[in-house]
Amino acid sequence: MPENPVAGFGVTFKAMFKKRLTEQYPEYKKPTAPRFHGRHQLNRHPDGLEKCVGCELCAWACPADAIYVEGADNTDEERYSPGERYGRVYQINYLRCILCGLCVEACPTRALTMTNDYELADSSRESLIYTKEELLAGLQEGMVDSPHAIYPGMTEKDYYSGLVTEAAPGTVPQEVHAGGAPQASSDTFGPMEPAASAPVSDADRPEGDPTDTAPAQTASASGGQAAGPQGAEGAR
Ligand code: SF4
Ligand code: SF4
Repeated sequence: MPENPVAGFGVTFKAMFKKRLTEQYPEYKKPTAPRFHGRHQLNRHPDGLEKCVGCELCAWACPADAIYVEGADNTDEERYSPGERYGRVYQINYLRCILCGLCVEACPTRALTMTNDYELADSSRESLIYTKEELLAGLQEGMVDSPHAIYPGMTEKDYYSGLVTEAAPGTVPQEVHAGGAPQASSDTFGPMEPAASAPVSDADRPEGDPTDTAPAQTASASGGQAAGPQGAEGAR
Protein backbone atom coordinates (compact mmCIF):
# COMPACT_ATOMS: atom_id res chain seq x y z
CA MET A 1 0.00 0.00 0.00
CA PRO A 2 1.65 3.30 -1.10
CA GLU A 3 2.02 6.06 1.39
CA ASN A 4 -0.07 8.44 -0.71
CA PRO A 5 -2.59 6.65 -2.96
CA VAL A 6 -3.31 9.84 -4.94
CA ALA A 7 0.35 10.15 -5.98
CA GLY A 8 -0.14 7.08 -8.15
CA PHE A 9 -2.35 9.12 -10.47
CA GLY A 10 0.48 11.58 -11.16
CA VAL A 11 1.67 9.67 -14.20
CA THR A 12 -1.89 9.50 -15.53
CA PHE A 13 -2.46 13.23 -15.16
CA LYS A 14 0.85 14.07 -16.83
CA ALA A 15 0.03 11.86 -19.83
CA MET A 16 -3.44 13.40 -20.20
CA PHE A 17 -1.98 16.74 -21.22
CA LYS A 18 0.72 15.47 -23.59
CA LYS A 19 0.33 15.62 -27.38
CA ARG A 20 -1.44 12.51 -28.63
CA LEU A 21 0.60 10.18 -30.82
CA THR A 22 -2.28 7.94 -31.81
CA GLU A 23 -2.76 7.67 -35.60
CA GLN A 24 -6.32 7.25 -36.80
CA TYR A 25 -5.49 4.49 -39.26
CA PRO A 26 -7.18 3.39 -41.50
CA GLU A 27 -9.40 6.49 -41.57
CA TYR A 28 -6.30 8.63 -41.93
CA LYS A 29 -3.33 7.25 -43.85
CA LYS A 30 -0.12 9.00 -43.05
CA PRO A 31 1.80 9.75 -46.28
CA THR A 32 4.92 7.65 -46.70
CA ALA A 33 8.38 8.87 -47.58
CA PRO A 34 8.68 9.31 -51.38
CA ARG A 35 11.07 6.37 -51.70
CA PHE A 36 9.15 4.06 -49.36
CA HIS A 37 9.36 0.43 -50.49
CA GLY A 38 5.80 -0.80 -50.98
CA ARG A 39 4.04 -3.14 -53.37
CA HIS A 40 5.75 -3.75 -56.71
CA GLN A 41 4.54 -2.68 -60.12
CA LEU A 42 5.31 -3.90 -63.63
CA ASN A 43 5.54 -0.87 -65.85
CA ARG A 44 4.52 -0.20 -69.41
CA HIS A 45 5.96 1.80 -72.27
CA PRO A 46 4.03 4.96 -73.17
CA ASP A 47 2.10 3.07 -75.86
CA GLY A 48 0.98 0.36 -73.42
CA LEU A 49 3.46 -2.40 -74.32
CA GLU A 50 5.13 -4.03 -71.35
CA LYS A 51 8.66 -3.22 -70.26
CA CYS A 52 9.32 -6.67 -68.79
CA VAL A 53 11.37 -8.88 -71.09
CA GLY A 54 11.11 -12.03 -68.97
CA CYS A 55 14.85 -12.17 -68.28
CA GLU A 56 14.42 -13.45 -64.68
CA LEU A 57 17.21 -11.23 -63.35
CA CYS A 58 14.85 -9.96 -60.66
CA ALA A 59 14.16 -13.53 -59.54
CA TRP A 60 17.86 -14.32 -59.32
CA ALA A 61 18.55 -11.16 -57.36
CA CYS A 62 15.85 -11.83 -54.80
CA PRO A 63 17.33 -13.02 -51.50
CA ALA A 64 13.98 -14.43 -50.40
CA ASP A 65 13.20 -16.36 -53.60
CA ALA A 66 9.91 -14.52 -53.77
CA ILE A 67 9.73 -13.98 -57.54
CA TYR A 68 8.69 -16.49 -60.18
CA VAL A 69 9.09 -15.57 -63.87
CA GLU A 70 8.50 -17.41 -67.10
CA GLY A 71 9.51 -15.65 -70.31
CA ALA A 72 8.13 -16.32 -73.77
CA ASP A 73 8.70 -15.13 -77.35
CA ASN A 74 6.74 -12.28 -78.85
CA THR A 75 5.34 -12.73 -82.34
CA ASP A 76 4.09 -10.16 -84.81
CA GLU A 77 0.60 -11.55 -84.26
CA GLU A 78 0.80 -11.37 -80.47
CA ARG A 79 3.24 -8.84 -79.08
CA TYR A 80 3.41 -7.84 -75.42
CA SER A 81 6.73 -5.97 -75.43
CA PRO A 82 8.76 -4.22 -78.14
CA GLY A 83 11.62 -6.74 -78.19
CA GLU A 84 12.05 -10.45 -78.64
CA ARG A 85 10.79 -11.69 -75.27
CA TYR A 86 8.21 -10.82 -72.65
CA GLY A 87 7.23 -12.04 -69.21
CA ARG A 88 4.44 -14.57 -69.78
CA VAL A 89 4.13 -15.51 -66.12
CA TYR A 90 5.15 -13.20 -63.33
CA GLN A 91 4.45 -13.71 -59.65
CA ILE A 92 5.66 -12.14 -56.43
CA ASN A 93 5.07 -14.03 -53.22
CA TYR A 94 4.42 -11.45 -50.52
CA LEU A 95 4.55 -14.16 -47.90
CA ARG A 96 8.29 -14.20 -48.54
CA CYS A 97 9.09 -10.73 -49.86
CA ILE A 98 10.96 -8.49 -47.43
CA LEU A 99 10.53 -5.41 -49.65
CA CYS A 100 14.28 -4.91 -49.88
CA GLY A 101 14.19 -3.61 -53.46
CA LEU A 102 17.08 -5.71 -54.80
CA CYS A 103 14.84 -6.98 -57.59
CA VAL A 104 14.23 -3.40 -58.70
CA GLU A 105 17.95 -2.76 -58.82
CA ALA A 106 18.50 -5.87 -60.91
CA CYS A 107 15.88 -5.10 -63.57
CA PRO A 108 17.62 -3.94 -66.76
CA THR A 109 14.56 -2.33 -68.32
CA ARG A 110 13.05 -0.49 -65.36
CA ALA A 111 10.06 -2.75 -65.79
CA LEU A 112 9.90 -3.45 -62.07
CA THR A 113 9.57 -0.69 -59.51
CA MET A 114 7.94 -0.26 -56.14
CA THR A 115 4.95 1.83 -55.18
CA ASN A 116 4.16 3.42 -51.82
CA ASP A 117 1.29 0.97 -51.23
CA TYR A 118 1.86 -0.81 -47.92
CA GLU A 119 -1.58 -2.34 -47.36
CA LEU A 120 -0.60 -5.88 -48.21
CA ALA A 121 -2.33 -7.82 -45.43
CA ASP A 122 -4.89 -10.41 -46.50
CA SER A 123 -6.69 -13.44 -45.18
CA SER A 124 -5.31 -16.26 -47.36
CA ARG A 125 -1.91 -17.41 -48.55
CA GLU A 126 -3.02 -17.58 -52.20
CA SER A 127 -4.12 -13.95 -52.24
CA LEU A 128 -0.65 -12.87 -51.18
CA ILE A 129 0.94 -14.36 -54.28
CA TYR A 130 0.44 -11.51 -56.71
CA THR A 131 0.11 -12.43 -60.37
CA LYS A 132 1.22 -10.47 -63.41
CA GLU A 133 -2.29 -9.17 -63.90
CA GLU A 134 -2.28 -7.73 -60.39
CA LEU A 135 1.19 -6.26 -60.70
CA LEU A 136 0.88 -4.77 -64.19
CA ALA A 137 0.45 -1.00 -64.23
CA GLY A 138 -2.89 0.39 -65.28
CA LEU A 139 -3.38 2.12 -68.60
CA GLN A 140 -2.68 5.82 -68.75
CA GLU A 141 -3.69 8.32 -71.39
CA GLY A 142 -2.32 7.39 -74.82
CA MET A 143 -1.80 3.72 -73.92
CA VAL A 144 -3.45 0.70 -75.51
CA ASP A 145 -3.48 -2.57 -73.57
CA SER A 146 -1.03 -5.26 -74.68
CA PRO A 147 -0.79 -7.28 -76.82
CA HIS A 148 -0.57 -4.96 -79.78
CA ALA A 149 1.82 -4.14 -82.60
CA ILE A 150 4.99 -2.14 -82.15
CA TYR A 151 4.83 1.54 -83.12
CA PRO A 152 5.29 1.64 -86.92
CA GLY A 153 8.84 2.51 -87.94
CA MET A 154 10.18 2.20 -84.40
CA THR A 155 12.61 -0.33 -82.98
CA GLU A 156 13.04 -1.70 -79.48
CA LYS A 157 15.93 0.72 -79.00
CA ASP A 158 13.68 3.64 -79.95
CA TYR A 159 11.36 2.67 -77.11
CA TYR A 160 14.18 2.87 -74.59
CA SER A 161 15.40 6.12 -76.15
CA GLY A 162 12.06 7.70 -75.35
CA LEU A 163 11.03 8.18 -78.98
CA VAL A 164 7.69 6.46 -78.47
CA THR A 165 5.45 8.68 -76.40
CA GLU A 166 2.01 7.15 -77.06
CA ALA A 167 0.29 4.45 -79.07
CA ALA A 168 0.19 5.00 -82.82
CA PRO A 169 -3.21 6.14 -84.14
CA GLY A 170 -5.39 3.15 -84.91
CA THR A 171 -3.59 0.80 -82.51
CA VAL A 172 -5.92 -1.92 -81.24
CA PRO A 173 -5.22 -4.89 -78.93
CA GLN A 174 -4.33 -8.08 -80.79
CA GLU A 175 -6.33 -11.24 -80.40
CA VAL A 176 -4.94 -13.43 -77.64
CA HIS A 177 -4.49 -17.07 -78.60
CA ALA A 178 -4.45 -19.99 -76.20
CA GLY A 179 -1.25 -19.92 -74.16
CA GLY A 180 -0.49 -16.31 -74.91
CA ALA A 181 -2.35 -14.48 -72.20
CA PRO A 182 -0.44 -14.29 -68.95
CA GLN A 183 -1.94 -16.49 -66.27
CA ALA A 184 -5.35 -16.31 -67.85
CA SER A 185 -6.02 -20.03 -67.94
CA SER A 186 -4.52 -23.32 -66.87
CA ASP A 187 -2.96 -23.97 -70.27
CA THR A 188 -0.53 -21.10 -69.79
CA PHE A 189 1.47 -23.50 -67.62
CA GLY A 190 3.26 -26.63 -68.61
CA PRO A 191 2.00 -30.11 -67.75
CA MET A 192 4.09 -30.38 -64.57
CA GLU A 193 3.03 -27.01 -63.31
CA PRO A 194 -0.04 -26.03 -61.32
CA ALA A 195 -3.13 -24.50 -62.84
CA ALA A 196 -2.68 -20.80 -63.35
CA SER A 197 -6.20 -19.59 -62.81
CA ALA A 198 -5.14 -19.11 -59.21
CA PRO A 199 -1.73 -18.03 -57.96
CA VAL A 200 0.73 -20.86 -57.50
CA SER A 201 0.71 -21.79 -53.83
CA ASP A 202 3.82 -23.01 -52.07
CA ALA A 203 2.36 -26.47 -51.69
CA ASP A 204 1.69 -26.76 -55.43
CA ARG A 205 5.09 -25.74 -56.69
CA PRO A 206 7.26 -28.42 -58.29
CA GLU A 207 10.26 -29.58 -56.34
CA GLY A 208 13.17 -27.24 -56.84
CA ASP A 209 10.96 -24.31 -57.76
CA PRO A 210 12.78 -21.25 -56.47
CA THR A 211 9.59 -19.86 -54.97
CA ASP A 212 8.69 -22.85 -52.83
CA THR A 213 8.88 -22.82 -49.06
CA ALA A 214 12.20 -24.61 -48.90
CA PRO A 215 15.17 -22.63 -47.69
CA ALA A 216 16.46 -20.20 -50.26
CA GLN A 217 18.86 -21.86 -52.67
CA THR A 218 19.74 -19.13 -55.09
CA ALA A 219 22.44 -16.75 -54.12
CA SER A 220 21.46 -13.17 -53.70
CA ALA A 221 22.84 -10.66 -56.12
CA SER A 222 23.21 -6.93 -56.01
CA GLY A 223 20.49 -5.43 -56.21
CA GLY A 224 11.33 0.77 -60.01
CA GLN A 225 7.50 2.15 -60.81
CA ALA A 226 3.41 1.87 -60.18
CA ALA A 227 -0.15 2.96 -60.11
CA GLY A 228 -0.11 3.39 -56.45
CA PRO A 229 0.03 6.73 -54.79
CA GLN A 230 2.92 7.63 -57.06
CA GLY A 231 1.43 7.14 -60.47
CA ALA A 232 2.87 5.11 -63.31
CA GLU A 233 6.41 4.80 -62.08
CA GLY A 234 6.87 4.66 -58.35
CA ALA A 235 9.84 5.13 -56.09
CA ARG A 236 12.85 2.92 -56.42
S1 SF4 B 1 11.78 -6.59 -52.69
FE1 SF4 B 1 13.48 -7.99 -52.10
S2 SF4 B 1 12.48 -9.77 -51.19
FE2 SF4 B 1 10.87 -8.66 -52.29
S3 SF4 B 1 10.80 -9.63 -54.31
FE3 SF4 B 1 12.24 -7.88 -54.49
S4 SF4 B 1 14.29 -8.76 -54.06
FE4 SF4 B 1 12.74 -10.24 -53.34
S1 SF4 C 1 10.89 -7.43 -64.18
FE1 SF4 C 1 12.86 -6.78 -65.11
S2 SF4 C 1 14.40 -8.23 -64.27
FE2 SF4 C 1 12.36 -9.13 -63.89
S3 SF4 C 1 12.02 -10.51 -65.65
FE3 SF4 C 1 11.07 -8.51 -66.15
S4 SF4 C 1 12.68 -7.37 -67.27
FE4 SF4 C 1 13.72 -9.08 -66.22
